[in-house]
Amino acid sequence: MERDTKSVHVVLIGPPGAGKGTQAARVASRLGIAHIASGDMFREAVANRTPQGVQAKAYIDRGELVPDDVTVAMVMERLEQPGCREGAILDGFPRTLAQAQALDRAFREQGTRVERAIYLCAPTDELLRRLAGRWLCRSCQAAYHEVSNPPKVTGQCDRCGGELYQRDDDSREVAQRRFEVYLEQTAPVIDFYRAEGVLDELDGARGIDEVTHAILQTVRRACGSI
Ligand code: AMP
Repeated sequence: MERDTKSVHVVLIGPPGAGKGTQAARVASRLGIAHIASGDMFREAVANRTPQGVQAKAYIDRGELVPDDVTVAMVMERLEQPGCREGAILDGFPRTLAQAQALDRAFREQGTRVERAIYLCAPTDELLRRLAGRWLCRSCQAAYHEVSNPPKVTGQCDRCGGELYQRDDDSREVAQRRFEVYLEQTAPVIDFYRAEGVLDELDGARGIDEVTHAILQTVRRACGSI
């Protein structure tokens, strides 16, 4: 496949609670590219009780990563859909070195690449505060925080009116395991993109608008006028 010079692929990496989902949705909409969130895709599969969802649930409940072969196949299939022609922001994928290498191989074959990998970081106490107060929309996955970004009506999504819920794996115990898994398995992905020369480290502890602005600036600087 010829490289579409207008397409752009951005990877968003960061620990649980760094704001990947919130920022990916905003940046995707501003750049007119797809938002691919592997965690959202797995949660949807779990809710629909698909075979993939049944398999993934046990891992998600424990705060572990779903095996690479399942995850890579799911994301690569999504990337081939027409909505991704202009590019995509990948939120929560790749999360292991094997996933990063698989994505790299697939993109190379297609004559495309990850233009920018953005590492969003924040202090652990801030991450824990965010997870403990996080509420998500069941319908559109919009994220809220009960103190710093509350919905207008308690329990209801501002954007679509959907019901808000708290993720079981945001409980302190499971979140703790997710942090460990992040350090063990996802930290090497940061080094991978640093070695590729496409990594930017941004302070995710700032306000939502400020972080969105910083990401857009970084991507535009790297990719020109998109
Ligand atoms: P997230 O919504 O990104 O926090 O993901 C929720 C859960 O889905 C994770 O704790 C994993 O169990 C699973 N998951 C999401 N993305 C991946 C991935 N790239 N590789 C493996 N498991 C994933």
